[in-house]
Amino acid sequence: MLPNCSASCPGCPAVAGSGDSAGLPLVTSPADFRPKDECGVCGIFGHPYAAKITYFGLYSLQHRGQESAGIVVSDGEQIRQHKGMGLVPEVFSEEDLSQLEGRLAVGHVRYSTTGASNIVNAQPFVATHRGATMAVAHNGNLVNIRSLRNELEEQGSVFQSTMDSEVVVHLMARCRDQDLEHSIVEAFRQIKGAYSILLMTKDKLVAVRDPGGFRPLCLGKLNNGAYIVASETCALDLVEAHYIRDVEPGEVLIIDENGLRSLSLGQDQPRSFCIFEHVYFARPDSDIFGINVYQSRKRMGEILARECPLDADLVMPFPDSGNYAAVGYSQASGIPFEMGVIRNHYIGRTFIQPTQSMRDFSVRVKLNPVRSFLENKRVIIMEDSIIRGTTARSRVRSLRGVGVKEIHMVISCPPTRNPCYYGIDFPSGGELIANKKTVEEIRQYLDLDTLYYLSLDGLVEATGAPADYFCKACFDGKYPVPPDPEFHKNSLGCGASTLPCR
Ligand code: SF4
Repeated sequence: MLPNCSASCPGCPAVAGSGDSAGLPLVTSPADFRPKDECGVCGIFGHPYAAKITYFGLYSLQHRGQESAGIVVSDGEQIRQHKGMGLVPEVFSEEDLSQLEGRLAVGHVRYSTTGASNIVNAQPFVATHRGATMAVAHNGNLVNIRSLRNELEEQGSVFQSTMDSEVVVHLMARCRDQDLEHSIVEAFRQIKGAYSILLMTKDKLVAVRDPGGFRPLCLGKLNNGAYIVASETCALDLVEAHYIRDVEPGEVLIIDENGLRSLSLGQDQPRSFCIFEHVYFARPDSDIFGINVYQSRKRMGEILARECPLDADLVMPFPDSGNYAAVGYSQASGIPFEMGVIRNHYIGRTFIQPTQSMRDFSVRVKLNPVRSFLENKRVIIMEDSIIRGTTARSRVRSLRGVGVKEIHMVISCPPTRNPCYYGIDFPSGGELIANKKTVEEIRQYLDLDTLYYLSLDGLVEATGAPADYFCKACFDGKYPVPPDPEFHKNSLGCGASTLPCR
């Protein structure tokens, strides 16, 4: 029996093994959890409008964090900063940018969970290191941060914030070697976990990527010879920079007036590229870990058509979850691709709650099924993930409500059974529906005719890379860098630990 299928194909033994749906409470919250990446970073060296270019870089990376944004700039003498809560265009006005003069800049967009969302935790983090001002912008999550912090506090360090980035600065300050580059290497050798970090002094931009390379980080060059380092290649495209290469796992890349040079953290570790970047987080126009995301997502759909061939009238996504995989499934199966659900593009961040009788309002206000088109149809829905299951359940209910005859749901990744410790804000294991229920139980809970998840082998095949390239821990539970026992799930590595600042 396929562990990731609940299809009711005649003769399949999976049909006989149906379980009950007990065990997971029905969550009545109108909004389901969608996993969030916790940050995006962008840095520029050598451009007269460094802040403005960084702004556009952050604009492209907005999907990686929507709660705060910041840019720190250096004119070679002075460091200036502007940060705020909200989306990039809400945080920066033309006037704000015009005051950020300098040829060197780092920027950051951040997502945080409720409670840690405040301006204090907005990045880049600015600190003084041996009398020199430095800015730090971080994407990822450090898994030994609590023990490092305890150790530093016992040695007399006093922390101003709850940010992981501040720990980095304290570790550098503790280094015996006065040289900046060596203090960076020594500090990062003590850190475990996922980090793609940009550090900026008044005359240097330094990019550091953890030895596993969990989070992406790429290097490009603008037409005037300025360098750009960013979380995703889509940031390079917008500012017309050409891609040079990825910052290598375990590399410390220094950019200054002398050009580029690299140091190694000297820590051998297998590649641990986050495969979920390809499933969900990264923009499809980006190349992540050297692989184009649009094409890998399309291949996920093609492989799903091979692994789970279904008889239906159409295949469709709920925009924008599963769009490209749905195209792949359609082309491989010959089943027409349709957009049977219409998205309202003018939804604000909040709206007045309707009366209680308006069930699934928050789903329908954004996504409305086309009743006259879908009625009596057999439909394949492509989704990129199911986390808690509440959104999927509301979506299925909205399709049943317009008279869809059969609903088959295919998911472009395996069941998400485990939390992420490396910079993606998943719920705890107990809140993940696939952690509690079998695929058949989830199918029943969602009221589907078929539920099928892409196999892990199929997911890896879709990327075209070897399996040992990737971290796949949220699917297989094999964590490449085990967190310290003191690791707290709410430690938000991108700078917003919810641990109390002692
Ligand atoms: Fe990515 Fe999942 Fe690994 Fe987290 S656990 S880094 S989301 S593959």
